[in-house]
Order: sequence, then structure tokens, then C-alpha cells
Amino acid sequence: MSKTIDELTARFTEFMGHAPEGVWSAPGRVNLIGEHTDYNEGFVLPFAIDRRTRAAVGLRTDGVIRVTSTFDHTAVEFPLAGLEAARTAGEIVGWSAYPLGVAWALGQHGADLSSVTGVDILIDSTVPVGAGLSSSAAIESSVALALNDLWNLDFTREKLAKVGQLAENEVVGAPTGIMDQSASLLGAADAAVFLDCRSLEAQVVPLGLAKAGLSILVMDTRVSHSHATGGYSERRAACEAGAAAMGTSSLRDVSVGDLDRARELLDDVTFRRVRHVVTENQRVLDTVRVLGAEGPLAIGALLDASHVSMRDDFEISIPELDLAVETARDNGAIGARMTGGGFGGAAIALVPHALVPAVEAAVVAAFAAAGYGEPVTFTVTPSQGAQRMGDSAVG
Ligand code: ADP
Ligand code: MG
Repeated sequence: MSKTIDELTARFTEFMGHAPEGVWSAPGRVNLIGEHTDYNEGFVLPFAIDRRTRAAVGLRTDGVIRVTSTFDHTAVEFPLAGLEAARTAGEIVGWSAYPLGVAWALGQHGADLSSVTGVDILIDSTVPVGAGLSSSAAIESSVALALNDLWNLDFTREKLAKVGQLAENEVVGAPTGIMDQSASLLGAADAAVFLDCRSLEAQVVPLGLAKAGLSILVMDTRVSHSHATGGYSERRAACEAGAAAMGTSSLRDVSVGDLDRARELLDDVTFRRVRHVVTENQRVLDTVRVLGAEGPLAIGALLDASHVSMRDDFEISIPELDLAVETARDNGAIGARMTGGGFGGAAIALVPHALVPAVEAAVVAAFAAAGYGEPVTFTVTPSQGAQRMGDSAVG
């Protein structure tokens, strides 16, 4: 991993044989609240973090895109005009599908790939892979912003988020929503991104963590959720069945006031799945309102309630996540919840700065006492979204 822009520029120059035009960076993300609401056309509240992917990009004259990474030194190249054919033939594989997919998706959104200049791209990242921090969206967003600038496309950041999602869905082949790319492109320092997954309208919401003396602690259980594909699709199916039984196309249209009727119409399991989504949407709205009115010290109960809802109603937590959440709370966190899709992954806690070391130690000790594998804990700072890097830029 290169430590400075100069170092990355030097690596690029050595590997590519010419200097880059510049370096663009984009962050990973953490979801503060709003889980399993995205595919129900509901609300989410993620923020960009201080772990970033940087893309050094230089121009070529031959219409070719060549990508490499400090993570895997093989270089992959295709003519830009041939990306669609390569995609259809299934020739774009592995990590290069993220940056190449973005170039292809820019074409799908109107960039003329037969006339833009070729590019060399070197990727470097401090976003850990597979820890639920969306290293994938960080790559997509850094590359999307770089090519948008270098190709003078003038796409909005909202459109670049759609470009990243299209790359991930159609080239990588992961059926993800637009939350991660929106957080990575639209995030701001000490703020979250309030995203309406139906209209795709996004709003930056100040968090005020610095002033309140609060940190966000990530507690990664290191339990992989990869085995849980069945659980994820079962939850999606239950949401669809619940919406259909309630006479709507999506649970976005069901409100807390409709839950009594839902209880009568639905079997117990479907009802509890529906109740999670409906109350979680309300908790996202409440969190945005409370942040504005009272500040972050007042959102603890909403984070706690979100966890209980995922544990008991949506049933996507695991004992390791429950232990992390309870231990954090018992040791001074003002609120805590599992974050991400569930069945593993990480939990987050809102913790007064001074108590962070004690909470971290308590979580590690509790895992050891329970015979669980050692968790990894670290704080994340809500940070600026994707940007072209200059002298005063963020890492
Ligand atoms: P997450 O987004 O939760 O970290 P994903 O499976 O969605 O996990 O994305 C991880 C993938 O992104 C990796 O397997 C790899 O293909 C790619 N990736 C992440 N960081 C880098 C990097 N620095 N260089 C190249 N590819 C990377
Ligand atoms: Mg990802």
C-alpha cells in the first residue's frame, strides 16, 4: 500500500512508463442505520469513512484501458470500444471487473467509448476487503470520478453512483443497490448521506460527532457472511410476499400505523419480517430528525432498537454480533447495532472518545470468554466523499 500521493505517482510512473494526470480517491462506507430497507424502496443513512481507495490515472493515445493494482500486480487491458463485446463474452473477470466495469457503464450512460482517450489506471486502497466497508464501491467511485474528469463527461455524482452500481450489477455480477456508491460519492466530513432508495434523492445530514465527543467503533466479528446467500434471498422473498399480501408493490408503502392490519393478514414469520422493515424505515426518519433537533447523543436508543429488530424480527444477527453490541453498551456505548446484511460481519457502536479503548478491550475479552474467534475493532471517522486529490486533500 502506497503511503503518499508522491509514492503512488512514482509507482504509476515506474509501472506505466509515463506520469499520471492525477490521483482521485474515494472512501468506503459504514451504514449508520437502515438495514434491509434499500430493496424495499425505503431509507438508509450511510456515511463515507476515512479509509480510501486511490486511483492514479494517466492518458493513453490508443483507446486502450489498462488497469493494475498494488493489491495484485497483473495488468489487464482491453480496447475501450471492445468492452461491451468482452463483457458479453465473459472475458472481464476478477478485481479488474470493478474499474473496467465502470468504464463500460460510463459508456452505457452516454460516454462515447469509441472517441474518448485511452487510460492507464493504478489502484491502491486502505479499505479492507470483505469487512463490510465496501471496498468495491470505493474502487468504482474513484475510477468513475477520475474518468468523468478526464473525459470531460460532466456527469453528476448521483449519475456516477448509478454508473458504479451498473458496473457492479452487470460486469462484476453482484446484485447490489445504490447505497454504497451514493455514500462514497456524496459523503461529507462529519456527516451521513440520507438516501431515499425509491426516488434516489440524497441529502447530506450533519452528524456532529466531533462536537459531541463521540467516536464510531467498528467491531468486526470476522465471521464470514458468504454462506448466507440463502438467508438473504429468503428475507427478500418474505418482504415481497408481505408487500403483496398488504396490496402494495413494496414495503415502502406500509407504515407503522398499518402494522395491526399486517398482523391479521400475515403469518407470524412474514409479519415479523415486515415489521422490521417498516419500523426500520421509521427509525431512519427518526434518526435524521433527532440528529437535527438534539444531536448524536440522542440517537442511541434508535440504534439499539434497530439491533433488537434485526435480532428478533428479521433474525439476521448471530451470537457474536449480539455479544459485541451488548458488551459495547455495557461498557459505555450510547448505542450499538449490527450493520450490513447480517449472518456475520460487523457491528458498530457510538462511543464517547475517552471510552473507546475500554470498550475495545471489553469486546475482545468477552469474545475470548465466550470461545469466539478474536474480533477486530477500529474507529471510523465520517469523511469527505470522492475527490480529485491535491496538496490539501484527505488521504
Ligand atoms: P466489500 O465491498 O464488502 O469490501 P466486495 O466483495 O464487494 O467486498 O468487494 C471486494 C473485491 O473488490 C475484492 O475481492 C477485489 O476484487 C476488489 N478489490 C478491493 N480492493 C481492491 C484493490 N485495492 N485492488 C484491486 N481490487 C480490489
Ligand atoms: Mg462490496
